[in-house]
Order: sequence, then structure tokens, then C-alpha cells
Amino acid sequence: MTAKKIDGRAIAQEVRDAVKADVAAMVAEGKKPPGLATVLVGEDPASQVYVRMKHRACEEAGIRSIGHKLPASSTQEEVEGLVKELNEDSDVHGILVQLPLPDGLDDERILRTISIDKDVDGFHPLNIGRLAQKGREPQFVPATPFGVIHLLKHEGVEMEGANAVVLGRSNIVGRPAALLLLKENATVTICHSRTRDLQEKSRQADILIAAVGIPEMVKGDWIKPGAAVIDVGVNRVDDDTKKRGYRLVGDVDYEEAKEVAGYLTPVPGGVGPMTIAMLLRNTVRAAKIAYEK
Ligand code: NDP
Repeated sequence: MTAKKIDGRAIAQEVRDAVKADVAAMVAEGKKPPGLATVLVGEDPASQVYVRMKHRACEEAGIRSIGHKLPASSTQEEVEGLVKELNEDSDVHGILVQLPLPDGLDDERILRTISIDKDVDGFHPLNIGRLAQKGREPQFVPATPFGVIHLLKHEGVEMEGANAVVLGRSNIVGRPAALLLLKENATVTICHSRTRDLQEKSRQADILIAAVGIPEMVKGDWIKPGAAVIDVGVNRVDDDTKKRGYRLVGDVDYEEAKEVAGYLTPVPGGVGPMTIAMLLRNTVRAAKIAYEK
């Protein structure tokens, strides 16, 4: 079997086009375009790149984005103070505090300070709590797992009643992805570094989500024939043939997996582009919430 390659770039572009059209319609009605404020604390190079990419994507969609940079030496009160100001600013519909925060800052307290109506990253404990409860709906769902579910829906992968196995239990990806799959009525198994017989558990999966951060850990014989495999991992491996000296690979061995899986996301070009697209979608939703008040 050769798996169907899920083209995350193309699907993300569809979402971005829809966002752009929504923003244009909002502006045509005389409203201000949605506004996203980003808060970057410290100088982490990867975080700087991510924030820049988010601003660029906003611009392309017609969303206003306002970047706030604070030094790594900022105190808890300073970061929370900025978030509180942004909560009060009616031109700001979404607030994104780029994680990870420098050591010494309590990220849970900072995320809790964000108004839940502006929590476009979906990491406010109340939003996560609602995601975890039956019959409750969060205002926003974290962008990466939201993107994972969008890809599965887009490809028509049946989630109801399916055995879904999530490798990884982080707050940003694994856990919320598992909760979303449960909401879709999948039977969910969450695996992590202490899981026994990981390979055997993976092989039970009709839907396998890999989010561990280990290059090409999931081999072909970990995969049930025909399964939908979503590779969230983004890992750098040394590669002298590349100008930059490395290449990006996922948590799944693509070449092996494609011979067994039914659907498979590539890295890059799978989940990555979806993350930004879903953030834009959440930002437009935040503006709609504000305008409906
Ligand atoms: P974390 O490091 O926060 O979590 C990794 C998880 O994998 C943990 O739950 C850990 O278990 C588990 N794990 C580690 N080693 C093993 C192992 N040998 N067997 C089974 N489970 C293991 O990572 P993130 O969730 O933040 O990210 C995961 C991957 O996704 C990374 O490659 C990251 O770069 C990528 N990513 C991609 C995004 C995108 O937009 N495409 C967005 C965010 C992340 P335990 O809890 O026991 O420690």
C-alpha cells in the first residue's frame, strides 16, 4: 500500500483563504480588522522565528498584528501587567504569549491572566478545562491539535469509534489532541515515555498521532495497515548535503510508513502549516466574539 500524502500546505492555504475572505467581509461591514497581539519575552531564536512567521501570516490575511517584546529579565508582574493592558485594549482581539517563557516566570499564571475571549492559543486553564469536560465547549482550541483534527476531517477519516493512539502527552500537543479525538468519539490511548509496549500500542491505531520529538521513531512495523498517521514532530537532523547543515524530519519514518499507512502527513508540509492557519482562524473568531458582545 502507498499512503495518501496529506498536503498540509494546500489545506492550510484553504483555511487561510477562508480567513482572508472573513476579514475582508468584516472590513466591508465597516468593522476594524481583527487584531492579534503577540508577547515575546526574551531572545529565544526559535521563538523569534515563530513570532515573525505569525506576524507575516497575519499581514497576508489582513489581520493587524502588534508585537510586544520584553527582556528576558522581565518580572512576573511586568509580563502580567502587559497582558492585562492588552485585555483592556479594544483593538486587540487575540493575545498570544509565545512559549516557552524564560525560567523564573510562571507560565500558568500568565496564561490565566489572558481574557478567555482573547485566548487565541487556547492555553488558558479555563479553555483547557472546558476541552476536558463532557458537554462543554472551549472558546478556543490550541492551534496545533486543532490543525491535526482539521486534517483528519478534511481527508474524511472516520474518527467516531476509531482506535486513536496519541504518542506524547504535552500540554501543547499530545494532551489537547487526545481530548479533541475523544470529543470526536474516538477511543483514545495516550502514550508517553513510561508506556510499556509502545510499538504494540501504536499498531492498534486506526489513527496514530506522533508528537514526541524523536526523529523517525515510528517505523513501518509500528503502523496498522491503512491507518491515518499524523506526524506532528519537527526535528533537526544533521545533513551535510544541505546548505544549512541539517534537514527537518518528523517523528515518523516517512519512507517506511508510506508503504503501510493509508494516510500520512509529510514533515515539513504537514501539520506545521496548519498551526499558523488555525491561529489565524482563532483570531478571526476572537474578533467575531468581540463584535457580537
Ligand atoms: P514535549 O517534549 O513537550 O513532549 C514530548 C512527549 O513525548 C512527552 O509527553 C514525552 O513523555 C513523550 N515522549 C518522549 N520520549 C518518548 C518515548 N521514547 N516514547 C514515548 N513517548 C515519549 O514536546 P511537544 O509536545 O511540545 O512537541 C512534540 C513534537 O512536536 C516536537 O518534535 C515538536 O517540535 C513538535 N511540534 C510541532 C508543532 C507544529 O506546529 N508542527 C507545534 C508544537 C510542537 P513524558 O510526558 O513521559 O515525558
